[in-house]
Amino acid sequence: MARKQFKAESKRLLELMINSIYTHKEIFLRELISNASDAIDKLYYKSLIEQASGVSKSDFSIWISIDRPSRTLTISDNGIGMTKEELESNLGTIARSGSLDFKGAMSDEAQQEGGQPAKDAIDIIGQFGVGFYSAFMVSSKVRVITKAYGEETAWEWESSGAEGYTVKESERSGNGTEIILSIKEDTEDEKYGEYLEEYRVRSLVRHYSDYIRYPIMMNVEKRRPVPAPEGGDEAAAEDKAPEFESYIEADTLNSMTPIWKRSRSEVKDEEYNEYYRDKFNDYSPPLKVIHTSVEGVVSYDALLFIPAKAPYNYYTKTYEKGLQLYSSGVMIMEKCADLLPDYFSFVRGLVDSQDLSLNISREMLQHDRQLKGIASRLEGKIKSELSSLLNTDREKYEEFFKAFGLQLKFGIYDNFGMQKGLLEDLIMFYSSTEKKLVTLSEYVTKMGAEQKYIYYAAGSEVEKLDKLPQTELLKDKGIEILYLTDDVDEFVLRAMDDYKEKKFKSISEGDLGIEEDEEDKKAVEEKAESNKDMLAAIKEGLGGKVADVRLSRRLKSHPVCLASGEGFSLEMEKILSAMPMNNTGMKAERILEINSEHPVFEALKKAFEADKDRMKVYADLLYDQALLIEGMPIEDPVAFSNAICGLMVQ
Ligand code: ADP
Repeated sequence: MARKQFKAESKRLLELMINSIYTHKEIFLRELISNASDAIDKLYYKSLIEQASGVSKSDFSIWISIDRPSRTLTISDNGIGMTKEELESNLGTIARSGSLDFKGAMSDEAQQEGGQPAKDAIDIIGQFGVGFYSAFMVSSKVRVITKAYGEETAWEWESSGAEGYTVKESERSGNGTEIILSIKEDTEDEKYGEYLEEYRVRSLVRHYSDYIRYPIMMNVEKRRPVPAPEGGDEAAAEDKAPEFESYIEADTLNSMTPIWKRSRSEVKDEEYNEYYRDKFNDYSPPLKVIHTSVEGVVSYDALLFIPAKAPYNYYTKTYEKGLQLYSSGVMIMEKCADLLPDYFSFVRGLVDSQDLSLNISREMLQHDRQLKGIASRLEGKIKSELSSLLNTDREKYEEFFKAFGLQLKFGIYDNFGMQKGLLEDLIMFYSSTEKKLVTLSEYVTKMGAEQKYIYYAAGSEVEKLDKLPQTELLKDKGIEILYLTDDVDEFVLRAMDDYKEKKFKSISEGDLGIEEDEEDKKAVEEKAESNKDMLAAIKEGLGGKVADVRLSRRLKSHPVCLASGEGFSLEMEKILSAMPMNNTGMKAERILEINSEHPVFEALKKAFEADKDRMKVYADLLYDQALLIEGMPIEDPVAFSNAICGLMVQ
């Protein structure tokens, strides 16, 4: 029998496979099971078209058997099988997808008979073109024994790799195909022997092929106690340890119906939760399950989960986003990153579509228009589900926001506000008046007609922010302030610029833009005018540390505070300077505001008139206090301490 050569491209690919381009060699099993399932699909479909009687879906199955002594793993099916010609052209040539040929042929046939175009009805995966060859990643030799449906003769194909293959006549009782893999010997790096372990095979099937629509069976050796002989001496039987005998039983390894193919009303919450736990190894039940089916140009089912807690590595570089991608029930990619935007990277789950033009290369998938279409619909769906959670179950939403709110905020910031429309109604900040998280929409709805801005204070903790002197005037007027406690918060608001046409304003900005009592305003202005020289002297005394010294209109009980000019704020300066590698050297404009109603003001005035040196000490102390209140470092803590002690001993 002559050994035949593989076609040139096939040979090259085969060499690649043998030397393994995949890191996950285990996927060979998925590929062979998918082929078996396709072969059954084809026969089942043919039987429907030809209205063959006696063929029932329940007759079909895929069998896996392990023979450890001979180191073989066998995958067999009772599908359509292959003729000698098909065997040669399918397994001798690559880049020729039998599945595609079949689709075309069937579609002509169906149309001739006035039926529906077959490509709508038939549901075959394939188009990978390299599936079968992956067997060589783990096998030193592969034998394929096959008998085509309706044929008398079976054929056997055999190959040990790139040198070529042989085909000869063989024996097989029914139609279908049997793939016998001679598993490679273990090496130091690779323990191929694991593919001969029942538990390993079982878990691979569960992992990759759970939802193959036909049962995947395996004969398993089990043990049971030997029943005691009847009428025996009972007392004696009790003394004896029970004896066991082994027997063989067939187990079905896969669950067959994908949970996402079932109707939502049929699936219980526990089933979703259990599925989530099993597949994503997360022991906290998901906060929200999104189960959706879309029919259209691209049809797909999606089952998405919003976890209750952020994984430990969520906010690190090691976290990988992505959804599982299935093609007609077969998992083809564990983490398809292109299905999720970064700001929704916390979502886990899967998408199953029969419309994707599949290819093993990720690069190609990235440019796939259909995949993009799915991704954009999913994005809209996730957003609307989150909005509805916010409106219907506030507590849960807050739980979600605690875990992943930061990611949503990054989403706005990273894209320079481009995703504002999508995300602005999902973010929340702590409110000074409500004492809880509120949305921007809630803030704006409540604000009075005369209020022009959305006010915020940025800092590390709500408690500290609430004590800031700069909040006094706003609180006095009953104006709500958003307390921003994440570093990124203020940058987020800057990126957004406004919300529903209301601009954001930091409470430490020089001008708060509030309608004020004219008389109060005049009084402060007059005081400022009459103390002009002193204010100028303080500014000079501070030697360029502040851009201006002013009498405050916002302070009520505190003596001083720092305000910033428009634009870059003190908090932003603080955050940027805390970043490693920061060399922007950007500084916020500082304005020292003094409360002219405070007794300290009188002390300053006295010092200005009588003792200029003392006034300089006061000015330094006030400025340092203002910095401390802001949570910013003071330049010279020793001088500060000495100055205070100096005053204490007077
Ligand atoms: P693909 O499945 O993507 O077409 P493969 O290399 O996995 O590529 O298989 C090549 C062809 O061999 C298939 O298209 C199919 O026609 C045939 N084939 C593979 N496995 C079987 C099987 N178990 N039964 C029948 N035909 C098979």
